[in-house]
This record gives sequence, structure tokens and C-alpha cells, in this order.
Amino acid sequence: MDPRVVERYSRQILCPIVHQDGQTQLCASTALVIGCGGLGSTAILYLAGSGINLKVCDGDKVEMSNLHRQIVHDMTTIGLYKTQSVKQRITALNPMVSVECINEMINIENALSIISAGVDIVLDCTDNYKTRYIINDACNIANIPLISGASVGMDGQMTVFIPSTPLSLSSTTSPSSQLQQQRDGSSACYRCLHPDPTMLSSCASCADAGVLGPVPGMIGCLQAIEAIKVIRSKQIQNTLSCEPMTGKKLLYEGSYSAFTSFDISTKRAKCEICTLKDNHRENEKEQLEALSQLFETLNRTIGNTANNINQDDLNVLNTIDAVSITVQQYKQLAFRDKIPHVLLDVRSKVQYDMVSMQSMYHTTHNDLVFDENKVSIHNVPLEQLLSSPQIQTCLQGAQDEKSEIFGEMEQQGYKEMERGVYVLCRRGIASSKAVVYLKEKGLKNVYNIRGGLEAWSQQVDDDFPQY
Ligand SMILES: [Zn+2]
Repeated sequence: MDPRVVERYSRQILCPIVHQDGQTQLCASTALVIGCGGLGSTAILYLAGSGINLKVCDGDKVEMSNLHRQIVHDMTTIGLYKTQSVKQRITALNPMVSVECINEMINIENALSIISAGVDIVLDCTDNYKTRYIINDACNIANIPLISGASVGMDGQMTVFIPSTPLSLSSTTSPSSQLQQQRDGSSACYRCLHPDPTMLSSCASCADAGVLGPVPGMIGCLQAIEAIKVIRSKQIQNTLSCEPMTGKKLLYEGSYSAFTSFDISTKRAKCEICTLKDNHRENEKEQLEALSQLFETLNRTIGNTANNINQDDLNVLNTIDAVSITVQQYKQLAFRDKIPHVLLDVRSKVQYDMVSMQSMYHTTHNDLVFDENKVSIHNVPLEQLLSSPQIQTCLQGAQDEKSEIFGEMEQQGYKEMERGVYVLCRRGIASSKAVVYLKEKGLKNVYNIRGGLEAWSQQVDDDFPQY
């Protein structure tokens, strides 16, 4: 062997799963890591460390709020594309592997071409439920094994998906997917497990629910281990020493330090993507047409957006566009014209306590300062707003001493409310729902601040922290 290879990889060459042949195989392999965030960070580091070449795909740039968990990046790469940051880090770690940067988000237009281009294995390290379907479908069509990871809060999960071999290439012509599964070692796919994309649209994301830094890091490590095992399993016949976690889903619950796994080996009989290849096994053009129809359906059901805004939320946003103002307009009325008004922040208390308009603009340390005689600021989380009977009573003008939500506003009289309630949240979605609700309850002069604090931070005050 090349002495440099021996020196660098000797400890893993000694492992039965690798040995000399295995190291040669790993060094000739390429993994596509989609998402260079918390999951991708550790997966990338260990894959590159083990000698596997990388393609890394992500359209985001490195931000300060990434660094607590996305340890492949650091302070010196803030503002760079995450893929470029990865390339710098990996070049420093192991110059013997190649890193190809794809500075875009995976989507229905580019997924198949990216996944089909000289890739041995794909790691889904994204945090977007829609891309999980896209990656799953493209991997199935391209016959590329997929290691899928996810984490939020204190919990994580990992699954290995092995696509079925097209029946036309196999020795028997049985159309049964289950028989095929036994024959070629393929597994259920993401769509087999999650038939209805709309069911996932309410799942929490790290951006909203938070995540403990080491949790995605650990899941990313597990993904890297499985990736190495799947690559090696093509050569190793003794499955006892190299058995990828196919047909099982691994769950980690950080609060209880508990690992559990459950069986997911059985394919869903009517899975759109698993049956697609069987139905169109002789004709690649038909496969691609069927795939593009699947993608169109995906867009229609869960929205044609790159982020996690679902179709229902988009509909609400469109509904209230007429009663929305921009962050610049709010700045003008609140800080320049000093119009008396109510500012209703419907974020959760933990988000409000982290940073708020009130905490930022109550003193003269900043050019933007609220006139406390003119602005009545309230934090009523959306769930509380929607579920509270007091709000209705309050809005109807009844004197209810138990009303806590708009207590201060009651003391100031309802004229204050008539002069305008401006509803604020993190990105303008929860506030839209609040505006719809308040208007239904008969409140007049209620407005949504479009884009919420994220837009405020980007367009008005870049000192306002984004989280
Ligand atoms: Zn399936």
C-alpha cells in the first residue's frame, strides 16, 4: 500500500470491516452529503477522515447561530457558503480526499442530476421534510443507498434505505416487492413510512423547537458509520461483521439516554415510488415522467417553497396581505411618527424572553427607542391567544377582572386598541394566524407585521439578533 495511506488510515485498516481492500474501496468511493448543518458536520468530518471523497450540497451560508452544533464550521468561516467552509476544514483535515461543493439547495429540478452524478451513497442531513421526499425519490430512481438522519430538541433518529434493484436486472420476474426485498436486500423507503406528506408539515424543526448541539452531532456520526458499512457491504459477504441497519429505524431519546429501534422492513404495497420502478421497469423515460408527476404532486400538497412554510400557512399569509404592513412601515409609525398603538408579540415566552422589541428598544442605548407612553407591548403566545376564553370577553368590552391577557389594555381603555394592534412574531406566520383570529373575533384595526422579527433584523436593524 501507499505508505501515506498506511500512515493515515492504519487504525481503521486493522478493523475487520476495512482491511486493505476496504481502505482501497473507501478511498475510491464518493458520498453525497446533502445539508452541511448539525447532522452533516460530524458525518462529513468522519467520512473525510476515513478517506471517502465528498460532494457536499447546501445553499446556506454560515451564521453565528449555527456554531453551537455545526462544528465543521467556525468563527473564521461565518458568511461563507457552508460548502466552502466544509472544503476549507476538510482540506485541513485530510487533503487526500476530494470535496466538490454544490452551492444550492436540493430541489425537484436538480435532485436527480445531483444524486445520479457519480455518487456511491447519499446522506440526507437536511432539516426540511419536503426535501426528504425529494431525496428519497431521486435515490430510488438512481438506485443509490440513502442514510437518513434527523434531530430536534433532545431527540434524533436514523434510517438506512436501500433501493430495490430494477426487476428487469434481476434473475426472476416476480412483481412482488416483498419477494424482491428478500432477494436483493432492499428496504422500505421514506414514502413507505410516511405516505402522506401533509402529515409532516406540522413537525417541529430545529429552528423553531431548538436542538441540543451534541444530538445532531451524534446522529451524524451514526450516519457516517452506516455509510461506511453500506459501502463495504458491497464487497463483504460475511454479514456478521458488516450488517447495515437496513429495515430498521433507530430512535434516540436524549432525555432518557435511550436507544430503541423498530422494524420497518415491510414495504407499503401501494408506495408511489417503490411501485414506480416496478410499473415502468423497462422504460427509463416513463420512470422519469412518473417521478416528475410525483414531484408535482408534492409541490401541490405541501407547497412550492424551499423552507418549511406549508400550503395552509401560505394561504393564511395571502388572506391577510391586505392588512399587513412592512417592517419599514412599522418603524415609521412606531419610532418616527410615534403613533400610539398596541404591539402584540405572539411568539412563545421562551423566544420573547430571549429577545424582544421591548428588551431592545426600551432605553436610549439605541437610535430606535419606544415611547413607553405611546406603545403598549404584550406577549401572548399564539396558542394562548387561540385557546383563551378571556380574549373574547375582553374584546367584547366586558369588565372581567380575571382577564390577564389584555389587562393593561383594558386599563388604558379600548380606544387604544382602536388605534391599532400590530401583531408580531418571528417570521410573520403565527402573527398572520393571530390577525385572522382577532378579526374573526371582531377586533378592528389589527395588522400583521410582514416577515416578523426576521425581516426586522434583515431590513431595519441588523443588531437585532436572529435566532
Ligand atoms: Zn416505498
